[in-house]
Amino acid sequence: MPLPTPAAAEPGPVVALMYHALHTGSTPDGQDPHYTLGTDEFELQMREVAACGGGSSADALLQGRSQARILVTFDDGHASNHALALPILSRHGITADFFINPATVGTAGFLDWHQLRQMADAGMSIQSHGYDHVYLTQLDDHHLRQTLAAAREEIEQQVGAPVTLLAPPGGRMPKNLLAIARECGYTHVLSSEPGVLAAAEGASRPLPRMAMTAATRHVTFQRWIRRDHVAIGHERLRYRGLALAKRMLGDTGYERVRAGALAVLGRRA
Ligand SMILES: [Zn+2]
Repeated sequence: MPLPTPAAAEPGPVVALMYHALHTGSTPDGQDPHYTLGTDEFELQMREVAACGGGSSADALLQGRSQARILVTFDDGHASNHALALPILSRHGITADFFINPATVGTAGFLDWHQLRQMADAGMSIQSHGYDHVYLTQLDDHHLRQTLAAAREEIEQQVGAPVTLLAPPGGRMPKNLLAIARECGYTHVLSSEPGVLAAAEGASRPLPRMAMTAATRHVTFQRWIRRDHVAIGHERLRYRGLALAKRMLGDTGYERVRAGALAVLGRRA
């Protein structure tokens, strides 16, 4: 009698990285230096991702086209996503999701539709970051449905590929977002809250993401992609502290304090 086949190894939890823009020397005008990484650093990170089992877009994983446990995502649709990130990703055989706002496509500093189609042809997934980067918590249900549906339709029409993922601007999520996003044709929501997602959790809650910033140390990044729960737990605590500050100051007050802090950092640099 043949021995029973051992159960297939449970796939480990998934960690998603959230990037914004890249630069080759100094941060271009109008771009937030905190969310802009140098290409050398990004290249090094993607080399490690490739060596650590590979990386892919959330779209490829959710559609069963990838087994990668590290997901790579970009928010906001900066021009550097095409000029600088695409060649590095392609070199390392990594795909990524790019969450864009139709309202900023083709404006100064942002990707245009032609570039987005080229990225989709290169295997990248182009997804929704809302229509115009207005925080979704500021909209009533009617306008929320309108903006989510309009963003999805326009991106699908322009890029010619299905849009099923939503990353809300600023990570701001109204309580009923999952339900309304599903009504509007999205299957998954990606948050800006740090953490990992276990394979069994599916779409039951927003997919957490680790924010990659100019302040993220390389050793921290290495722990995150290895899904080290101490390092990820530490980042969750830090995020909760920031979330509390945002609640106390309100969105406008928080942005003002943050802009002031960045101005000081900019003068020092
Ligand atoms: Zn954004």
